[in-house]
Amino acid sequence: MEHLVDKRARSLRDLRISVTDRCNFRCRYCMPKEIFGADYPFLEREEILSFEEITRLAGIFSEFGVEKIRLTGGEPLLRKNLPDLIESLYKVSGIEDIALTTNGVFLPKYAKQLKEAGLTRVNVSLDSLNDKVFKKINDMGRGVQPVLDGIKAAQQEGLEVKVNMVVKKGLSDDEIMPMVHYFKKEGITLRFIEFMDVGTTNGWNYKDVISKKEIHDLINSHYPLESVEPGYFGEVAKRYRYAGTDTEVGFISSVTESFCSSCTRARLSTDGKLFTCLFAQSGFDLKEMVRGNASDEELKQAIRGVWEKRDDRYSEIRTEESQKSRKIEMSYIGG
Ligand code: SAM
Ligand code: SF4
Ligand code: SF4
Repeated sequence: MEHLVDKRARSLRDLRISVTDRCNFRCRYCMPKEIFGADYPFLEREEILSFEEITRLAGIFSEFGVEKIRLTGGEPLLRKNLPDLIESLYKVSGIEDIALTTNGVFLPKYAKQLKEAGLTRVNVSLDSLNDKVFKKINDMGRGVQPVLDGIKAAQQEGLEVKVNMVVKKGLSDDEIMPMVHYFKKEGITLRFIEFMDVGTTNGWNYKDVISKKEIHDLINSHYPLESVEPGYFGEVAKRYRYAGTDTEVGFISSVTESFCSSCTRARLSTDGKLFTCLFAQSGFDLKEMVRGNASDEELKQAIRGVWEKRDDRYSEIRTEESQKSRKIEMSYIGG
């Protein structure tokens, strides 16, 4: 097995694959309705990687030691027959762990098929337990209950579930403690994600970020937190547990405590471009190669070339100027 290392000595370990750029939500921090309206040029069907193409590329990534794949989007459960993709990824030698990030509303419909296909874990995004607030955030009038039903359905199928909450000042700061109380009682890991400047359409401003430290200190004043060792090198979330319990809470502090020095993640966009950073301005077109009859060895060489040149550290060097640069949207590249 060949291990790929980039210029800053980070090896390629995991792969996120976006399976659609479409979504049934319009979360204000991700796909603001004013931009992602009826005229928005979402990708056409023929531009999107097929399941066969995704599986072939996953096989090549696994030859470089990638063991974990996360499917994301847009809303991945909008991609027709997603369990079929999971089933074929599950058969790729070397892929040990297939996870999904979803807004959860289609989980009651698909959880059983997803589990049977080989899915191991689900991260469900939910930012509030208050219908009024949640409807304002997702901007599509979607209530909280369908998401909670999705979480239940995934648990009933034996999938490991975590809940992701993005915190944006003025939008969801009052939701932190109700979410903590509820998911602590449920024994479900809740992970707080700092509001990030992904893409250029979400009106990001540093003033709207509530830091990991602020959220940690707030929770700690109600429930003392103990830190938990990372499960593996490059784990993105900083982990804690509520003292005296096994229930964890995590923080993804991309803005205030960056983790570029241990970033081992590659991203494959819906239309087959390889990105080495969430904040990249462009990706390397693997689809063009796949559809141009490139051999596995040629694809390997291309991926090797991209990764070995990689020098990304956007979060470490974020400045006012870099924030304004043209970046890829979250719904296109997946979180
Ligand atoms: N639709 C799925 C969902 O919401 O889980 C998957 C795609 S979504 C882009 C992946 C993750 O990115 C979600 O947990 C979402 O909350 C997070 N996210 C979206 N925009 C964000 C932003 N501006 N800052 C931080 N996290 C963001
Ligand atoms: Fe859709 Fe997920 Fe983005 Fe919300 S965060 S708009 S659910 S892709
Ligand atoms: Fe990785 Fe880029 Fe995020 Fe740094 S900013 S942790 S290099 S994705």
